[in-house]
Amino acid sequence: MDWAQDNGSKRKPLREMDRRQFVRVSGTAAVGSFALSAPGSEASSRRPGAADLLLHGALVVTMDAKRRVFRDGAIAIREGNIVDVGSSTSLLARWKSSSKIDLAGLVATPGLINSHIHLTGDQLMPGLRPDDSVPSEHLTKWGLPAYQHSQPEDDRAAARFVALQMLRQGATAFIEAGTCRYPAAVLDGLAGMGIRGSIGTWAGDRWPQAGFFSMTTDQALKRIHDALALPQGRVEVWPDVLGTAICSDELYRGAAQLAREFNRHWTFHMSPSPSDIAAYRARTGRDPLVQLDHLGVLDDRCVVGHAIHISDDEVAALNRSGATVVFSPHSALRLSSGVTFVGRHPDLKSMALGTDALNASNHVDLLNSAALACNIYAEARKTYATVTAERALEWLIPGGATALGWRDRTGTLEVGKWADVAVFDVGVPVYNVANALVHGSPRAIHVFIEGKQVLQDGHVKDEKAIFKDAVEAARRVAQRSGLPLATGWPLLD
Ligand SMILES: [Zn+2]
Repeated sequence: MDWAQDNGSKRKPLREMDRRQFVRVSGTAAVGSFALSAPGSEASSRRPGAADLLLHGALVVTMDAKRRVFRDGAIAIREGNIVDVGSSTSLLARWKSSSKIDLAGLVATPGLINSHIHLTGDQLMPGLRPDDSVPSEHLTKWGLPAYQHSQPEDDRAAARFVALQMLRQGATAFIEAGTCRYPAAVLDGLAGMGIRGSIGTWAGDRWPQAGFFSMTTDQALKRIHDALALPQGRVEVWPDVLGTAICSDELYRGAAQLAREFNRHWTFHMSPSPSDIAAYRARTGRDPLVQLDHLGVLDDRCVVGHAIHISDDEVAALNRSGATVVFSPHSALRLSSGVTFVGRHPDLKSMALGTDALNASNHVDLLNSAALACNIYAEARKTYATVTAERALEWLIPGGATALGWRDRTGTLEVGKWADVAVFDVGVPVYNVANALVHGSPRAIHVFIEGKQVLQDGHVKDEKAIFKDAVEAARRVAQRSGLPLATGWPLLD
């Protein structure tokens, strides 16, 4: 069904966009004649050339400043970068390429960005923790043992497994939330998968119990320094800290200093529950993010995970500082955070979306997370105009690029950016593209990173081996830690 041709009768914006696009390309010569263009047309001012890859026929959602959408759009890619975006008619006329992919009936967007995810430890055992387990034991009994008993090869297998899940959902970039115990193994594991992003190593100097996870401020800073010194490629190391009340003022200051020194962004967790506000008020007389602002560490390099329980003063501090807050709606609901009662995310200027740990939400679907972000605030504020589908996509894609500090290279489909593209089969006629993507929450069909296809027809190369490695790693970790490999209803052989 050629839904792209007959779906626009009620969608004025798309029709107008098409008209503009038609005017823009109407001076070009016949389709297929890339070398010919009418004098004075846009094509004639740009040398017609060879592209490495031409994606065409898709409904292309650029997310550019004008939020242009091309009903029958194309993307020309050369040396990993986007060299042209527009209607298929104009690009097929303007560019020659021996490699063309017809995406008729599909929707192409900039690669999605997961701005809060964990890659290691209990990610090997998603959903293991029983729903009726004791909340105070969630971390100590079900979360931490996997981190404690993992070896480098387990972290490597876990990171590849989580990256596989992300690619399947259309994510081309991620921000790991700073809990990689063996960052060298994680970097090594991700190197062949194409996905880009940042990782951090486990660093917290006010751990409540003595033992395996406790460390001094100097030890925490040394761990971060050592990780920053590792060889890095498409995945870079950030000076992340665990955050919350688990880090001292000195550690926050040290991490912020390293971020400036190494020209990186950095991330930490804050206020997923009310306990951080209580701890900071008792210790400093200030709310947590006001205290970080007071310390001089809150700026546009900061990526704050959760920030669910925040005060008016913290909203003002965040908006003044340029820091980005990452909302992980599935995790917030799954962990009974209270977000529907107290959440302030719609009041913040710089927002991104994430999925958090697999054992918190068992969920890496970013489009579904965007839908949930809309629906949570529709319910909480009694109007679904609070977070529109368009706004949720802005949080998810350009918002994620801002969080990463790579806004000039990703987050939109524009000339000069990395050719990081996700392609979805929304499966229904598209009358409102943001609504179809967000509330339809389709899975990705194809993903391209720097023009190289890393997901084809829903599959990643070597995915069976990646999955098998993760299952074997989980068995090893279970053996060492004493964690069970099955909970809930009996799982029979
Ligand atoms: Zn987290």
